[in-house]
Order: sequence, then C-alpha cells, then structure tokens
Amino acid sequence: MESNNQLKVASLGSGSKGNATLVSNGEVTVMVDCGFTVKEVLKRLPRLNLEPDQIDGILVTHEHQDHISGVGALSRRFSIPVWSTRGSLLSGKCGNLPALNLIEGFEPFSIGSLNVTPLSVPHDAREPCQFLFTQNGLRLAILTDLGCFTPKIVEQLTPCHGILLECNHDEEMLWNGPYPDRLKQRVAGKMGHMSNRQALELLQQMDRDALQLVIATHLSEQNNCPELVSKLLAEALSWPLERVKVAQQDMGFAWQKIGFSA
Ligand SMILES: [Zn+2]
Ligand SMILES: [Zn+2]
Repeated sequence: MESNNQLKVASLGSGSKGNATLVSNGEVTVMVDCGFTVKEVLKRLPRLNLEPDQIDGILVTHEHQDHISGVGALSRRFSIPVWSTRGSLLSGKCGNLPALNLIEGFEPFSIGSLNVTPLSVPHDAREPCQFLFTQNGLRLAILTDLGCFTPKIVEQLTPCHGILLECNHDEEMLWNGPYPDRLKQRVAGKMGHMSNRQALELLQQMDRDALQLVIATHLSEQNNCPELVSKLLAEALSWPLERVKVAQQDMGFAWQKIGFSA
C-alpha cells in the first residue's frame, strides 16, 4: 500500500474540448470534472491503470460543457457520488444524480481520507470553484478556468507542493488570432481564462519554496503553443525544461506524484 504522505494526479485530457483530472491519495481517488462521454472515459482510463469503479467521487468545477458534459452519465452508470456547488448544479446539466453533496467556496470537506478545499474563482459561470487537495501538510492545487487570480487564492497556495495551472493563451496570439472579437474579449477578460503572462504572475506571487510539480493546463490549441509555455514556466521557476509538464487535449498526462519521503 502506498504511504499516505503522497498525492498523485493525472489527466484524461485538458483543454476546451474536454477535461477530466484524477487525484488520489492512495486510498481515495476522485475525478475532477468530466467533459468526455462515458465511452471516451472508458477508452482513456486504462492509460492510467484505473477502473471506473475505483473512482470514489466526481467533483465539479463549473457547468461549462468541457467540464460537465459527462458528469451525470458517468455518475449514473457507475453510481459515483458527485460534489458540486449549488450554482453549478442549477445549470441542470448533470440531470438526476444517484448521490449529491453540495459544496461552497472556501468551505473544506473530505471524501474518506482525502481533504478538499473548493477555491472560488472569477469565471463566467454561476458558482465556479477550483480545488485544493491537502494530505498531511501536502498541498496540491488545480487552478483552471479563471479570468484572474485573487489574493485569497494566492493565500491558499501557501505552501504549495503541486499545481495544475491554467496557461490558456498567449496574449499576442489571441489578439492576432482567428477568434471573433467578442470571444477574444471574453477569453481575455477578468471572468475568462488565464494567459501565460497571468500564470507567470501567479507563480511569482505565490510561495514557490515547496513546489515539486507544475503542470500547465487548459492550453488553447489556436492561441498558444506548448513549447512556448514550457519555456516560460521553466525560466520563471529556474527549472530544467523537462521538469515542467504540459497537459494535452488528447493525452492529458500520466500519473505524477508529490510527497514527502517517509
Ligand atoms: Zn474549460
Ligand atoms: Zn469554463
């Protein structure tokens, strides 16, 4: 059995075409968001050596299709309970759920031995949140789909051992790119998505001393470039290039661990 001073995280896919992230402390495994069909989830789960009945819960960040489209179906098919804010649920996109737990921003809760704090974020959804997982002093944050970061979010990242950080777009590529003007404004706005520049700013402001793992997530396929993101993050962290991971839309990323040596 794995020691309980570890957390691990993996992704089935990351980006505007669908998101699903897995977090496990070795005893409890949850899926954060499911923006894929059940069929697609069943196709992708074996990459992580995971069976659907090993998933103890589905946590919802917000009701945008790329995060919620598969939540209801997966929950019903395998009787997996769902944790969601009332706002996200009110979208009606989950349908009837076999078991539901309502959560609120900055109100910690636990699923078995896994401790979770929802982080309220500025994003154009009803009651969006992202998640911080804690385990014996270890802290792993998932932060995507936020137009900007708040002091309260920075405070929660003290300390932070692992972070999945939205690097949605390069600002120049977005403004010179093919999106219609309204969409450009939405993406770049305070309730839209974090740019590479904002992600670097967050890294600068947060407590980086304990950081073991940084994974860039939710990259725009049109308005960003994975090589650019790795280079920017590696420079900002003074890490070798290969230490920075970038989540992919199709492949997500394989299990990554953070932990203290026993
Ligand atoms: Zn999204
Ligand atoms: Zn969103």
